Amino acid sequence: MLERFIDPTKIRVEEDCVEVDEKYVGERVEGFKIRGVELAEIGEGDGVEIIGDLRNLMGIHVLVSEISEETVQALESLFGEIINRMKGVEYKFRKGNVEITVSDLERFKPECVGKLIYDALKRIPAIRSVRVRIICDEKEFKKLAEKAEKIHREREKIRISDLDVDIFYACTSCQVYLPNHVCVISPERPSPCGTTYIEAKAAYELKIVGYYQPVKKGMAIDELRGEYKGINEFVRNINGEVNRLKLHCVLDSPPLTGNYAEAIVFYIPEKDGFGVVDRNYKGKTPVGLTFSELEKIILGRQVKGFVGVSRAYMNSEGFLRGEGGWKRIVWVSPNLRNRYIITHSDSHDD
Ligand code: SF4
Repeated sequence: MLERFIDPTKIRVEEDCVEVDEKYVGERVEGFKIRGVELAEIGEGDGVEIIGDLRNLMGIHVLVSEISEETVQALESLFGEIINRMKGVEYKFRKGNVEITVSDLERFKPECVGKLIYDALKRIPAIRSVRVRIICDEKEFKKLAEKAEKIHREREKIRISDLDVDIFYACTSCQVYLPNHVCVISPERPSPCGTTYIEAKAAYELKIVGYYQPVKKGMAIDELRGEYKGINEFVRNINGEVNRLKLHCVLDSPPLTGNYAEAIVFYIPEKDGFGVVDRNYKGKTPVGLTFSELEKIILGRQVKGFVGVSRAYMNSEGFLRGEGGWKRIVWVSPNLRNRYIITHSDSHDD
């Protein structure tokens, strides 16, 4: 296994790397696909390390010292934003499901990715040292993926409820693809791409990206369903087609769905229940549509009976609380079966 330690100041971004500019965020890229996994955690060291030669795997492991656990989670949620500034590179999804598409594999160099992340994080005043490990070696990638899975599961455990806070967070990052789109992230309603309340809050407070903002939730209209006066007004201002938003519903005024939903919940009229299909399931769902076909219908929109969700939301007490929760789930795709149905034994798949 090849392992290189590189002094970040020796990486010549202008000469060795593809062009980097904010205008490339939102660029659609066709080409070579690389499977990725991301993990930021508290740790020591400074510099860039490249482990293995790039083929079709890239683990991004960042260790940052002297910051809070909340901040470290927020930093991890920024990797996609940073890498999407590279020309001809599209970074999609989060955590253990990252997919990187590159148009020119020759010029997509691990040291450039490492340097970009290193520089971006080093610009944050609170951060003293950053160790960026770019892992391309298969064995090391697997190790990182297993570690990240455990840590992400732990971080996704919801420890506060929607009632404990007065402020929710809005994310408009997907507006580069979907004008007028907004996600509302509450403690019990992580976004469809998996961003948790803690991540959104810390990322906003760090002020290094502009797409998170706090929203006063205002008077509760229906706490069970997750409807608040302030949230309705805020969303209406951004998207005039949406009058009401109920965070924990699918049939009645569901949230909009951004670009990177990990799964989709859909209504099955014959059963008067719901199905959940994950992004990796390629077959047809009981409503006769695949994940991609369902996604096309709901992207950036509020569509009754369909909503994008994340693994973190599926683990939340708030999951579809306004419409029966797991008790109303009558079908799940195979990847979700063991993970969720065992822990929610009232549910079943047909
Ligand atoms: S899906 Fe929502 S939370 Fe995720 S990046 Fe898009 S707008 Fe932000």
